[in-house]
Amino acid sequence: MAAPARATPPTAAAVAAAVRSGATTAAQVLEQHLAAIAGREPEIHAFNLVLTEQARERAAAIDATVAAGHDPGPLAGVTIALKDNMCTRGVPTTCSSKILDGWQPPYDATVVNTLRDAGAVIVGKTNLDEFAMGSSTENSAFGPTRNPHDTSRVPGGSSGGSAASVAAGFSQVALGSDTGGSIRQPAALCGVVGVKPTYGYVSRYGLVAFASSLDQIGPFTNSVADAALMLDVIGGHDPLDSTSIPQPHPSLRDAIQQGVEGLRVGRITDLPAGADPDVQERLEAAFDALRAAGATIVDVEVPAFTFGLTAYYLIAPAEASSNLARYDGVRYGLRVEAADTHAMYGATRAAGFGEEVKRRIMLGTYALSAGYYDAYYGKALKVRRLIHDDFDRAYQRADVLLTPTSPSVAFKFGDKGDNPFAMYLCDTYTIPTNLAGHPGMSVPFGTGAEGLPVGVQVLAGTLQEPVMFRAAAALERSLA
Ligand code: GLN
Repeated sequence: MAAPARATPPTAAAVAAAVRSGATTAAQVLEQHLAAIAGREPEIHAFNLVLTEQARERAAAIDATVAAGHDPGPLAGVTIALKDNMCTRGVPTTCSSKILDGWQPPYDATVVNTLRDAGAVIVGKTNLDEFAMGSSTENSAFGPTRNPHDTSRVPGGSSGGSAASVAAGFSQVALGSDTGGSIRQPAALCGVVGVKPTYGYVSRYGLVAFASSLDQIGPFTNSVADAALMLDVIGGHDPLDSTSIPQPHPSLRDAIQQGVEGLRVGRITDLPAGADPDVQERLEAAFDALRAAGATIVDVEVPAFTFGLTAYYLIAPAEASSNLARYDGVRYGLRVEAADTHAMYGATRAAGFGEEVKRRIMLGTYALSAGYYDAYYGKALKVRRLIHDDFDRAYQRADVLLTPTSPSVAFKFGDKGDNPFAMYLCDTYTIPTNLAGHPGMSVPFGTGAEGLPVGVQVLAGTLQEPVMFRAAAALERSLA
């Protein structure tokens, strides 16, 4: 069950440099990853779809570009796995739901175009909790993904397939989406780097919407430097996404060259309790590491942090109930025939959506309904504002904040299966950031119980990615 540790993989930057210079070929790089997939994918199930032939064609085209004396771009030959809620033209995009059965998007997500232009090779579409609702990838209609470190345990979720793909060496990097922690929590559980950028940093055009005011795309990588490279490529303004920030972002690859001398690192003194002792111990080690690297540790309070979970489980389901209304058997995927149109809608949605998605739609519809709107949805929006303002006050005193990413290491399949609330608690430390619109990232920081990976979360204020990456890079360096 427990897998031997892998040798440190080369960085994406090193792979791209080798492909660009002709020292290796994109085809060779790809074949290594396809061999890893052939070896362990039957046991891990990271993918809903492996795009073997398309990827081979793409790698050959990149090699031809190099041979012709042209530059394929900063991600030349870098293999990437995409969470299966990002639209790929003519390629099934399922959101791990039966309701999208047979649907092929007529367009590519902006990130897909950007990656292609940068020379990346897409190897497949990864498994997720249905419509990104969950923290274990157990809610997929196509069966769970297994954690490459211990296949009796979950990889986290909802981007469990993307995290597992990088951890198992199926792809160099991967993209996920994070609405309440779905990049950072699986990154922590699988021992890789995962970043949720500031809301609006990366285009959401072509990302199937779960909760539009919270969703953000971000990378999974083996190193902080690779995460910086990925965000430098996929970040930036996109006129096709009206919530995309209309300004260029500073280079994160440059930022990580700076140390953390003088940086103020905040410890949240009123953080909700609940992290296991092994996780807490790694967080203390992270504070020590940054102090040793020249940072100052300061105490801050974020009183409304504790209400994040409650506010999220009103706001996110409310938005989801609206976003998912479009799956009605008419325009997308599955249709279950019935006596009349109304009965067809009902039969299609009853057969197409899984249990957790139905729970969210009902929660959200209730929270938005006449008579309850002010008490639930309206109140949750006010709490969201308090969280944002409390964070802003904390960021006057600290440049970054450190918390656990997940309260525990990877748990066993079925452990939280029949208790949705236990599952929701997995996101205690990640959710408030999404509500504030701020960036956050998880950095692997040693191991806890059973030798399983532990992630430390670095948080920062709006568009403070450079300082967040500096702290993350210092944490990584301290382990080297
Ligand atoms: N686990 C959280 C949820 O179930 C967050 C999911 C996400 O970030 N997509 O809603």
